[in-house]
Amino acid sequence: MQSVLNLIDGKLVPATEGGTLPFFEPAAGAVLGNAPDSGAADVANAIEAARHAFPFWSALSAQERGRWLRRLATSISDNLELMAEAESQNTGKPRSVARSVDIPRSILNFEFFADVATQFASESHASGDAIHYTLRKPLGVVGAISPWNLPLYLFTWKIAPALAAGNCVVAKPSEITPLTAGLLGKLASEMGFPAGVLNIVHGSGPRVGSPLVTHPDVKAVTFTGSTATGRAISEAVAKDFKKVSLEMGGKNATIVFADCDFDRTLSECVRAGFSNQGQICLCGSRILVERSLFDKFTQGFVERVQRLRVGDPDDEATDQGAVVSETHFKKVMGYLEFARKEGGKILCGGQRFAARGRCAKGWFIEPTVITGLKNDCRTNQEEIFGPVVTLVPFDTENEALGLANQSVYGLAASVWTADAGRLHRFGQGLEVGMVWGNCWMVRDLRTPFGGVKQSGLGREGGFEAMRFFTESKNVCIQVR
Ligand code: NAD
Repeated sequence: MQSVLNLIDGKLVPATEGGTLPFFEPAAGAVLGNAPDSGAADVANAIEAARHAFPFWSALSAQERGRWLRRLATSISDNLELMAEAESQNTGKPRSVARSVDIPRSILNFEFFADVATQFASESHASGDAIHYTLRKPLGVVGAISPWNLPLYLFTWKIAPALAAGNCVVAKPSEITPLTAGLLGKLASEMGFPAGVLNIVHGSGPRVGSPLVTHPDVKAVTFTGSTATGRAISEAVAKDFKKVSLEMGGKNATIVFADCDFDRTLSECVRAGFSNQGQICLCGSRILVERSLFDKFTQGFVERVQRLRVGDPDDEATDQGAVVSETHFKKVMGYLEFARKEGGKILCGGQRFAARGRCAKGWFIEPTVITGLKNDCRTNQEEIFGPVVTLVPFDTENEALGLANQSVYGLAASVWTADAGRLHRFGQGLEVGMVWGNCWMVRDLRTPFGGVKQSGLGREGGFEAMRFFTESKNVCIQVR
């Protein structure tokens, strides 16, 4: 049994009321450990510690803050295999993915924002005999709330820029996947990371997230998670006019034209659909295919999906592990039932995957491909967030754009075609925050990250994040 503690004021502590919440190993369908079931008192302690630490931390130079961030990066790096094992155990994702994607990216988040802090500059405007210059000051204490799908990756993606900009942080990881955040807290405490600058409070949304976002000393909230929770947070902070950045759900379209590079498009569409068991907000779960290519694409796609190896995340050959929880398993299976009722034809998958040995009770779902559904049905409109992809044919470019945009979400899209003009037209016309042309999830951490419509408010990444985590003030000096 693994045990996780809060990090408050530099110390590892249990919840003040002493309660704990279990967390699970999805591949085994069994309890893996427990984390503090913290409440408002723990949140208040963490915020108080952060408030005290703020004058010290915000007065450090960008280089000095950057050095601390690099030390955090190094300590994760020194424990890479341990962190990868923990992430894989707690999420069900293949350990190879945690080792090659999740943990390296968490390290990079700290290294990257250590650099960004030293490069971030403000503007000045000379107008006549007056000079305007913009000061950018850290906000104070900020709250960071993250989801379960990429636990340490997204947790550090929020913490790193907030700290780099000079803020102190109270961060809440998902109660479903607290293990690597717990290890991060342990590493920070052991290395003597300045007390109170980074605080990590474990627990549920209602008992920790809610008092965190509404606390008067929390000046801004950065959130990644579902649209429903994002809306609740937005409403809760509106009355105090807090800064809020929301990264929420998606139902991303992948648009495939007949002139695409067929083999590469097929393999990338499989990657876009099924990476991390389909549990990435950017996954292309709705593939729109030009009708003249539809049958050929469908056949090739299903063949490749059937080749995905589902099973024990510890097995280096595994492509797809378990989904994150029993609740989520039931939700995804419920959507498969629903797709059948809506008239969907399941071309492959559609069932629980029967893993063997230690994984016999795990929450595995066969990679599933569905066709025969209209774009406006619930299966094609609601976020399933599992290993489920639908295929929908289209006839014209305009129709494809209309279908892609027919969604309450607007996070990302990818377009596959040899026609450069068409790539630019879709780049312009798609109602999303991020468009990939002939690629998927190619990331540069300097670029703006985020969605439109019900997928997001605000942008993360590079200077966008630094702007969010600072308040600008214009100073105008007239020289006569
Ligand atoms: P969730 O909304 O259930 O939980 C996210 C976090 O919010 C958790 O830490 C949870 O404890 C906390 N929370 C819950 N209720 C709260 C409240 N009332 N106040 C404050 N905090 C509260 O989301 P999830 O199921 O953990 O994550 C999956 C969702 O995240 C999917 O919708 C996915 O698309 C989205 N996501 C979006 C992005 C993006 O960048 N847009 C990235 C990853 C995941």
